[in-house]
Parts: sequence; structure tokens; C-alpha cells
Amino acid sequence: MAPRIIVLGRQGAGKGTQCARLVTEYGIKHVSTGDMLRAAVAAGTELGKQAEQIMKSGGLVSDEIMNGIVAERLSEDDVIENGVLLDGYPRTTNQAETLEAFFASQGVELTAAVNIDVPLEEVTARMMARGREDDTEEGIAERLRLYEEQTAPLLAWFAERGKLVVVDGLGEEDEVFSRVAGAIAL
Ligand code: AMP
Repeated sequence: MAPRIIVLGRQGAGKGTQCARLVTEYGIKHVSTGDMLRAAVAAGTELGKQAEQIMKSGGLVSDEIMNGIVAERLSEDDVIENGVLLDGYPRTTNQAETLEAFFASQGVELTAAVNIDVPLEEVTARMMARGREDDTEEGIAERLRLYEEQTAPLLAWFAERGKLVVVDGLGEEDEVFSRVAGAIAL
């Protein structure tokens, strides 16, 4: 069955970089909700207008909107055939539960949830250095706070289901990639 993998990790843990490599290596589809929202903002769609301020302030777009966008994308043939690497979703227990029910309705199962683990001080330094538009000091602090509050509980949630794999995200990009690829062993 095509792999269905979730990549977890604090903002700045290197999820985007590692996902790009996994996609090239394994031919699975990268579904980044952050990228989808940024594209909507750039295109000036209704969704983009709703999301823009929330993203700037480091808040979370509503579960209802996110669940809808992801379900739509996961229903497309290329994802069903090749498998998916979810980056930035789920971020809340509601999203994780909705995804679990959605996979069940498709008759498929999550392969693994990989946590790329990088300590708080290190991700803060990395985000200050990358200078993305929503990387203001307040935005960074709020996103990290929300990660600990809303998303970190998902680590236990996936562990309970026997799906969690933790990878040390410190070190060279190549090293981290070897660890991630080894951990999911596609
Ligand atoms: P990211 O590129 O994953 O850091 O996402 C950038 C921003 O998009 C986040 O700070 C949120 O405002 C929003 N966002 C992305 N994915 C989600 C999600 N699954 N749930 C809620 N908001 C999201």
C-alpha cells in the first residue's frame, strides 16, 4: 500500500527540507498545509484572505478549514496512488482524529508519524535566522507556544497508536535525512 506519513516537529526543525528530500527519493506527494495557505494568500483567494492575518500573528487557522482542505487534497488520485507526506498537519487533536477517520473511510492506514526532534532554543535561533515573512519575533514565540500547547500532545497520541517514530533532528542535513529514511524504512 502507498505510504502515508506525517512529519511532526517544531517550526524550524527542518521539516520542509527533509520532506523535499523524501519526496524526491520515494516519489510520494508532499502535502504542506503551510505551503497551501501561503499559495492561497499569494493568489488572494477567499481562503488566503481569511488565513493571512492569522498566519502573521502565529495563530492557527481553524480546524474546520484545515480538515476540509486536507481531505480534499487527500482525495486526489496522485496522492491515493503514490502516497503522501503530510507536513504541518495535523497540528491539533481534532485534526489528528479527523485524519484518522478520513483514512479509515478510505480504507487505508497511517504508516508512521515521524517527529524530527530539535530543542526549543535551537529552533528559535534557526527561525530568527531564516527571515520568512511571518517570522517576526512575536510570531515565532506564538507559534512555538501553540506547538507545545496544541501539537506536542499529538506525540503521545501517535505513540499510543504505535505509530510514533522519533528522530534526532540535530546535525547535518544528510545525517538527519539518513535517520529519517532509516526510521520509516520505505
Ligand atoms: P507552516 O509552514 O507549517 O509553519 O505553517 C505556517 C502557518 O500556517 C502556521 O503558523 C499557521 O498559521 C498556518 N497553518 C499551517 N498548517 C496549519 C494547520 N494544520 N492548522 C492550523 N493552522 C495551520
